[in-house]
Amino acid sequence: MAKCTSEINLEIYLKNRNGENNAANAELLCEKCHAARANDGVSGQTPASLPFDEQSEVIIMAGGQCECTRSGSCH
Ligand SMILES: [Zn+2]
Ligand SMILES: [Zn+2]
Repeated sequence: MAKCTSEINLEIYLKNRNGENNAANAELLCEKCHAARANDGVSGQTPASLPFDEQSEVIIMAGGQCECTRSGSCH
């Protein structure tokens, strides 16, 4: 299963829409992979409620690359 690793048009995705607004509940995804998640009926909204320091944490943990590892057609 290939990882996307795209470094352009990155967005933050909250894994659990009703979960906590922190880095543990977030993933860094490129625009394309983010849109594919939204099509699953899961929240595709970039969380405006996520504090800036948590957003920075997500980006650092992801190494500045899309974290998507799904085997679908998004990448
Ligand atoms: Zn991606
Ligand atoms: Zn993907």
